This record gives sequence, C-alpha cells and structure tokens, in this order.
Amino acid sequence: MTNTKTHEDLSCSVDLNMSEVLTSKQKSIPKKTSQPQKESEDKAITNSEEFTQGQQEEGFNGFGFSDALLKTLKDKGYNEPSPIQKAAIPELMLGRDLVGQAQTGTGKTAAFALPILERLNGGCRLPQVLVLAPTRELAMQVADSFRAYAAGHPHFKFLAIYGGADFRSQINSLRRGIDVIVGTPGRVMDHMRQGTLNTSELRCLVLDEADEMLRMGFIDDVEWILEQLPEERQMVLFSATMPSEVRRLSKRFLNQPAEITIKAQEKEARLIKQKYIVLQNSYKTEALKRVLEAVTGEGVIIFARTKAITLTLAEVLETSGHDVAVLNGDVPQNQRERTVERLRSGGINILVATDVAARGLDVDRIELVINYDMPFDSEAYVHRIGRTGRAGRKGEAILFVSPRERRFVHNLERAVGQQIEEMSIPNNEVINQSRVERLRNRLIQAAKIQRDNSKETEVLQGLLQQVSEELEISQDQLALAAINLAIGSAPLLVQGNEDWLKPASHKNRRDDRSISRRRNERDTNYPEDHMERFRVEVGRKDRIKPGNLVGAIANESGLQGRKIGRIQIFDCYSLVDLPKGMPKDVFEDLKKVKVLNKELQIHRIN
Ligand code: AMP
Repeated sequence: MTNTKTHEDLSCSVDLNMSEVLTSKQKSIPKKTSQPQKESEDKAITNSEEFTQGQQEEGFNGFGFSDALLKTLKDKGYNEPSPIQKAAIPELMLGRDLVGQAQTGTGKTAAFALPILERLNGGCRLPQVLVLAPTRELAMQVADSFRAYAAGHPHFKFLAIYGGADFRSQINSLRRGIDVIVGTPGRVMDHMRQGTLNTSELRCLVLDEADEMLRMGFIDDVEWILEQLPEERQMVLFSATMPSEVRRLSKRFLNQPAEITIKAQEKEARLIKQKYIVLQNSYKTEALKRVLEAVTGEGVIIFARTKAITLTLAEVLETSGHDVAVLNGDVPQNQRERTVERLRSGGINILVATDVAARGLDVDRIELVINYDMPFDSEAYVHRIGRTGRAGRKGEAILFVSPRERRFVHNLERAVGQQIEEMSIPNNEVINQSRVERLRNRLIQAAKIQRDNSKETEVLQGLLQQVSEELEISQDQLALAAINLAIGSAPLLVQGNEDWLKPASHKNRRDDRSISRRRNERDTNYPEDHMERFRVEVGRKDRIKPGNLVGAIANESGLQGRKIGRIQIFDCYSLVDLPKGMPKDVFEDLKKVKVLNKELQIHRIN
C-alpha cells in the first residue's frame, strides 16, 4: 500500500491513505480552534458497530497504515483490531481529539499508539507526543509498546520518564532527541519547569488512566502540564471510569472529542471465572497450598498486601515444591523484567506480587489470579483479575476473604457487574482427584515421547526384561514400580484433618465487628498494624492537600497511591501512614522531595 500525504493536522508531515470510511467522516473533522468548544458532551459517539459497517477490509488493512506497520502487526500476531481499536484508530488517524472509557487489557495502548506512530514526523528533534501515565510501571510498559509497534521505523526514539529514576540520564536522552515521551506527571512537570523538556513542538498528548491519576492526586499536575502545552494539538484521554473531575478536564481541554465507551470490564470479567473463599487469616497459607493443588492452570499470580507477605509466601510455596518468583517494590527494575520474562516463557509458574509491582503486567499465559489479601478497593480488584483472561483467553480468579471482609464482596460484584461465587477450600478428595489427574497427564505425555536415541530404548527394554525375570513379576507390577520411581516416596494421596476446611462461621462475624469498631476508635492515634507513621514538614499553612502528598510520595517511592494510608494535616506539619518496611534508599530520596516548593523532610515517628 502506498501512502499519500493528505492531512496535516498532527505533524509536519502526515502519511495517510484513507479508505472510504475516512472520506465519509472527513466532514466531521473539527477545525482545530484555539478555544475548545464547551459542549463536548454532544459529540459524535463512535462505536465499533458503526465502524465495522463502513470498513470493508479485513484486519488492520482498512486504517490506511503503512506497509511497515502492517508487517509489524502481522509479526506480532495481531490479526484483528480489538473493539476499541476499531473505534478509535479511524478517529485518531484523522487527528481528532478522543475520550475513551476503557480498561487495560482491551488493547487501548495500540489503539492510540498505532495512529500516533503513523502520524509521527521523522524530521523533528523535539518531542512530538507526550503520554502521561499514573505509574512508572505503566509508563515503561507504554514506552515498550511504542518501541515494539515502531519496529518498522527504527529511527523513532521513545523515552519513559518517571520519578525515582536518575534525572541526569533522562536529561541526556532528552538532549539527544526523543519523538515520544511517556512519563508520570510529577517527573514530566519537573523536567518542564527546569526547561529540560521542550514541549514547543508537541502535537499530541495522551492521558492514560486519567481516573488513576486523579485518585493518586496528580490531577493538579496534569492540569498544570496541559496549560503549558501548545493549544494546537491533538488530545486523547483514556480512563476506566469517568469521575466528574475527569469529565471536567476533558471538557476544558479536549476539542469536540469523539467519545468511545468499551464495556470491556463486564465483557472481560465474564471471561474470568470469579470465586471467593471465606476463611480465618490463620488458615490462609494452608488454603493457598490446597487451591494451587486443586485448581490446575498455567501461570498463576498471587497478590499479597505487603512485600513481607510476598516473601513469606514464596518461601512456603518453594518448600512445597512450586517454581515461584517474587515481584515487589524492592525488586530492582532489571530483575523485575527478567522475572516477567521467565513467567512469560514458563520458566516459573507462580508469581507472588504486590499491586504496584504487578500493575499493567501483561503475560498471556496467566490462567489463575489468587487474591491472597483483599485488594484495597474494587478498582484494584479489577486490575488484579485483569492479569488473567488476557487477549480473549479464559481465566480464573480466587479471592480470600476473612469473615469480616465478606461484606465487601458485594462491592466487587457491582464493580465487575458479575456474581462472584463462594467456593470452599479444596478438601482431600478434590486434591487427590487433581493429583491423580495430573499423574495421568504426565503418564500420557511420557507414553507419547519417543526417545531420540534408539540404542537407549533398547537398553531400557532390556533392563525391564531383566528386572521382570529376576523378580518374577508381571508387566503391571513393573509398571507400578516405574510410577513409584517417578512420583517419589511422598504419599500420592492426602489424608490430613479436614475439620478446619469448614466455612468460617457466622458467629465470628459478630466478634470481628466489635474488634473492628474498637480498631476504628483508636485509628487516629495509631497507624494500622501493617503501617508506620511518618511526619512531613509541610502543613496547612503551606496550603498542602492530601493529594499533593500522595502524588509526591507515590511518584518518588513507586508506592501505589492506594497503599498510602491515613493522612492528617496540621498547621505546620502533616502525618502520613505508609506500609511498614520502606527501603532505606527510597526513604532517603523521599526526604529530599519537594511539595509546593518545600522539602518534605520526612521522618519516622514512634
Ligand atoms: P492493553 O489494553 O493495551 O494493555 O493490551 C492488552 C493486551 O492485548 C496486550 O498484550 C497487547 O499486546 C494485546 N493486543 C492489543 N491489541 C491486540 C490485537 N489487535 N490482537 C491481539 N492482541 C492484541
């Protein structure tokens, strides 16, 4: 397909070869005005059906993509655009602004990255595109996606910039020339303020996971950034939910955006079988081992609340013979990448992770997610279970809840629009069935394998003959002996006490409620058990808001916003509860962080 230059909306030179779909829509392209129009809600609603009707060609062929990009997509095994891609790509290729309501896992990264790539100008040294993402994990992942999709255009440069990473090397990369920046708001703002990120040539801005940025307290930073950018630019906003703040931002900064809603959450969720088990905390580890034995599946992620729990669980599982790795905030970045790669290739089968480390994790072979600890909120739950059922595959999610947490299951059901079924801890019978089934599969596999070396086969057959003659035993007895050899001396069938497996009783719920009431009463005076209290030297007189603290701490420490506990703001200082066990270097970095131009000078208090 040869491309012709027909549209100059985004970059200095734009390559497009549009199909009939585009021609029919061209009339609706808004002329870019410097004053965004107010009534952005009356905008053309785009949906995938409308697009499919107009699109005659198969797969990605109808979008006017270059041959190089089509080849890259083919190599990556992308045969059909996902619904959000079908709906968004034509609009973005036209240079329209777009607001999309979609979750991760729907293919939204490619939905914006592909058209952006096709419209990049090869000659510019200054950044043409800025993508803002709430976390460094997501920023890195989006930058990686851009790199992968740009395989046919190796001259384009991409950079992820985020807090907690070396400033100098980011400045050096920026100086060498970057086409697409993907960054977290705080660090992007720092670079803009210092003049190390020149946005004068910026033609396109993407806000990814806008609701998450809002929740992490970044919205003021985002607004500041938007105010500094050239007015003539394309803007794309993606958000899983549309809280009023995000709507307001969209109305203020987007110009007659196409609106797309992909109800992926429900659709995706339906592919994921969701269950919960009510149990006392003290039985969780034992229950986890049983679930892993009974629920067979490729690739498992276990979510735990703290780094310490991830380590303990990994140890316990390793002792039980599982291949396990840990992903938490303490694991250095390069090791994280290696771990994800091993999970992807099947080198390890179980990953025990905290939320922040596993955010955006994209491994297709995950078939089971276990929420060992209750997620912080329903959004975290949706993100966690979204690690399975990827790219249209089926998956299963199991949530452990204490009797006290049981009532929150209903909130989660509302969030996913689907019932979450109660299940019991697998009993001996279920586990034994599963063990026998696994053994059967191993036997079938072994029976199908032909040894490459026929000489070896002869030797083995001779050996069998010899043993059966020597002991005067039948072929069946000999086969049993071989199985014994394969499974080892540990018992094949479990027979342990099953009394504790009974569902946690209702009586406990009442007891738990009074404990929880007492806890709430003392809450303000003491941090929760798994938290530590810190003092920061900024307070009401500095006009500090909780969102500023959450944003600054999350950005610099890599800690997820939702992991930051109670924040109490006083006149001259504030108190912040953070999960126990903050690494020393992160703590040192945090001391120097500035909020509203004042150093936090964070320190622990007893
Ligand atoms: P995202 O929603 O951007 O996190 O993407 C979810 C997953 O879907 C990623 O693994 C993508 O590589 C994959 N993906 C995106 N678009 C397609 C497509 N059209 N065909 C197959 N896989 C895709």
